[in-house]
Amino acid sequence: MYDVHSKHAEDFINHEEILETLAYADENKHNAALIDTLIEKAKKRKGLSHREASVLLACDLKEKNEEIFRLAEQIKKDFYGNRIVMFAPLYLSNYCINGCTYCPYHAKNKHIARKQLTQEEIRREVIALQDMGHKRLALEAGEDPIRNTMDYYLDSINTIYSIKHKNGAIRRVNINIAATTVDNYRLLKEAGIGTYILFQETYHKESYLKLHPTGPKHDYAYHTEAMDRAMEGGIDDVGIGVLFGLDKYRYEFAGLLMHAEHLEAAFGVGPHTISVPRLRDADDIDSSSFKNGIDDDTFAKLVACIRIAVPYTGMIISTRESQKTRERVLHLGISQISGGSRTSVGGYCEPEPDTEKSEQFDVVDTRTLDEVVCWLMEMGYIPSFCTACYREGRTGDRFMSLCKSGQIQNCCHPNALMTLKEYLMDYASPKTKAIGDALIEKEVFNVPNEKARSVVLENLRLIEQDNRRDFRF
Ligand code: SF4
Repeated sequence: MYDVHSKHAEDFINHEEILETLAYADENKHNAALIDTLIEKAKKRKGLSHREASVLLACDLKEKNEEIFRLAEQIKKDFYGNRIVMFAPLYLSNYCINGCTYCPYHAKNKHIARKQLTQEEIRREVIALQDMGHKRLALEAGEDPIRNTMDYYLDSINTIYSIKHKNGAIRRVNINIAATTVDNYRLLKEAGIGTYILFQETYHKESYLKLHPTGPKHDYAYHTEAMDRAMEGGIDDVGIGVLFGLDKYRYEFAGLLMHAEHLEAAFGVGPHTISVPRLRDADDIDSSSFKNGIDDDTFAKLVACIRIAVPYTGMIISTRESQKTRERVLHLGISQISGGSRTSVGGYCEPEPDTEKSEQFDVVDTRTLDEVVCWLMEMGYIPSFCTACYREGRTGDRFMSLCKSGQIQNCCHPNALMTLKEYLMDYASPKTKAIGDALIEKEVFNVPNEKARSVVLENLRLIEQDNRRDFRF
């Protein structure tokens, strides 16, 4: 039975409720009066339920879809301005005992190179990432309780935070590792992680069991209830996501929103981020053998409908997507993107030899971080390297309440400008620096109040003189 408050996966991601939602959306996808009402409701910027948002996703009335896209764009502007937060993945280990049929790290793959970074190798990779300009990492690893232990993760996090190289520092470490226990989540929290990320892959239980035939990940309930345990362990920023292409996208969309509704109902705070990866080719994985792939138009509509349904939740797109696709969806709701990424275990400090490839998926957007930053600024976006909320304790419901009231803008905009300035001084090419300096000069006048503006101007001047104070709002 559907119960948003229940701690059981099959109650809060209830199959019958999703089927009824999809039937309701089909019945109403041409119901212009209802769609108008939903758009009006969404304009209040308090989000929509999974049923309501599913009607908008199913709608194929051209005029209404244009309104949906316009509204998503406006909501994105209202909550996130023109800032885009930058991050990079760091793969620690691709040892894995699971049998996921869409991932080349599955245990039966005997020819992919298997690697686990030592603490010294992590140091070298992190220095290479700092030299690119990154301040925020997402750690990635397969599931292998013997090799990829909690002690290994805790040591790795500690190593990463301890590296200070030139003006570089990793200020926020997010982590994407297998579902685990409340006690382990507590340890991750104590180690200072930012967001705990775990993709559901698919909410459709029957498909899930087939796609995960072996290994601990086969346990649908344990995986689906992981965020509840993470929150019980004190992690208040969690990141959810679906691997689009595994099952029908409308089913996944409803499941994703039901998951967000459940976290909000049970813990008073929804997910910090939602990721929208699409299935990609990789090593022994041929994405064309999966029949539920979605085209770029559908992908854009999905992003827009997620933005409207959960206006306060950050949305992430990775280098799985091309420059063209990223450009198309940025203004519809994306708030974080990766740049200069490697999806191999190691590979930032020196490229992997062809005989030792360990990538999880083929990177499509292969540009450097400098190129991505420059491209964003040429489109009028402010690439942000800010990690202040995490360091100021603005996480979980504290972050969400500031976000819902719109006050978060007072922090984000100045912090984005100051961290961008640091990036321009330390890492940017002359072309990127020139474009960035001109952008900052213009954007500083959009800092909300006069006092804050003068503080920002003073800090920009100090950064220009290489006199850093790590000032943040
Ligand atoms: S998706 Fe994760 S759990 Fe599954 S095989 Fe890949 S690394 Fe292992």
